[in-house]
Amino acid sequence: MKSVEQYRNQKVLVLGLAKSGVNAARLLHKLGAFVTVNDKKEFDDNPDAQELLSDGIKVITGGHPLSLLDEDFKVVVKNPGIPYSNPIVSGAQAKGIPVITEVELASQILEGELIGVTGTNGKTTTTTMITMMLNQRADAGKAYVAGNIGVPASAIAQKATAADTMVTELSSFMLCGIRTLHPHIAVITNIYSTHLDYHGSRENYVKAKMRITMNQTADDYFVINWDSEEWRELSKQSAAQVVPFSRQANTKAGAYEEDGKLYFKDEYIMDAADIRIPGDHNVENALAAITVAKLQAVPTAGIVQVLKTFSGVRHRTQYVETYQNRQFYNDSKATNLVSTEMALKGFDQPVILLAGGLDRGNTFEKLAPALKEHVKTLIVFGETAQKVADAGKLAGIDDIVFTDNCETAVPIAWEHSQANDIIMLSPACASWDQYPNFEVRGDRFIKAIEQLTGKAEEN
Ligand code: ADP
Repeated sequence: MKSVEQYRNQKVLVLGLAKSGVNAARLLHKLGAFVTVNDKKEFDDNPDAQELLSDGIKVITGGHPLSLLDEDFKVVVKNPGIPYSNPIVSGAQAKGIPVITEVELASQILEGELIGVTGTNGKTTTTTMITMMLNQRADAGKAYVAGNIGVPASAIAQKATAADTMVTELSSFMLCGIRTLHPHIAVITNIYSTHLDYHGSRENYVKAKMRITMNQTADDYFVINWDSEEWRELSKQSAAQVVPFSRQANTKAGAYEEDGKLYFKDEYIMDAADIRIPGDHNVENALAAITVAKLQAVPTAGIVQVLKTFSGVRHRTQYVETYQNRQFYNDSKATNLVSTEMALKGFDQPVILLAGGLDRGNTFEKLAPALKEHVKTLIVFGETAQKVADAGKLAGIDDIVFTDNCETAVPIAWEHSQANDIIMLSPACASWDQYPNFEVRGDRFIKAIEQLTGKAEEN
């Protein structure tokens, strides 16, 4: 970790705890700052705040009192989820106090190399693939995943040495709070329209994503999906060397697919069909990862090894098990239409789809073509059950069943299945109407499968 002096004896405010806030507070404390943390949750049911207090950090809980603005903070480290309209955030900005996110802090102390991955979909999968590939190099330091993937970057940055690489998943919310963060390789997997409630407009969302390259120079690389006119245009804004990846065009510049075969520049890497995780979207993710791995001198054999064996990140079109010739997949992370569409396109066999969840006000007609092509039975639940069922009717699906949740859907799916079917949870919706988060939803789905197959009793 770099020795950073800029926070010594300075007052800093950490706004919002959770994992990243706790780590940021600890790090700033270690760097000699006078840290105040402020979290909405009451002290009594706030173990993070209790722990930080016992470490000697000032803790204010149960709300965001505006009086905090009277203090002379040098910087505010904001949880990415807190909007800029929050009065403390906007008040601090009005006073000229820099408002950053924890990844910015991490990048300031990181000695090793930084690779940043953003995009609407595929961040976690691509970040994981890149890290696994980099770890195939025999004579290099270690690669770590960090960031939005659930591992606070400031924790990794403290232990990574100069030889190591921190592969950091960056959400648009995190990118809004960077100032100097400078990835040697920045990746944009794709940009679709989502999170527009937070950013206000697609233009702002795109701008937030493009911050990943704003500090890059000609010594760096900007790896971007080449399969949309808009994204190709955006690449012109980067000062880094642009390296495209593409499923549609033989660019000869980065990784691309041609006739089912994957190449990097002129070199044949492998057949797309040999990638272990299903779906065209995962071919895209693989091409992004191949591009980064090649730029970082990973041997081709190492790249192929990872792509042939990596079975997916938990909850992302994750293969669960095969029981009596039916394959179960957990795609609980599919919280928007594009994700579910992509997941469906990954299968040739008939799919029994379990879908529905939080109602964000949108409709699901756009899903109809993919439903028509791939889905034989649709089992719906949650706030959007009726809307998803309407899309199913539009798609001409006869077998549509309403149920309570994704767990009760499992035995129903079983009854409606036959050998060779895929049974997949890919809800196309966020989970918050019925579950604390998508991980819990996916775990409960897996539990229900275990009950069905008798595994639960064995354990
Ligand atoms: P993120 O971290 O950006 O949310 P993940 O890798 O966790 O992305 O994948 C989330 C879901 O998005 C997956 O379950 C899959 O259905 C879908 N997905 C993954 N990669 C892509 C892609 N490149 N394009 C479109 N959808 C994708």
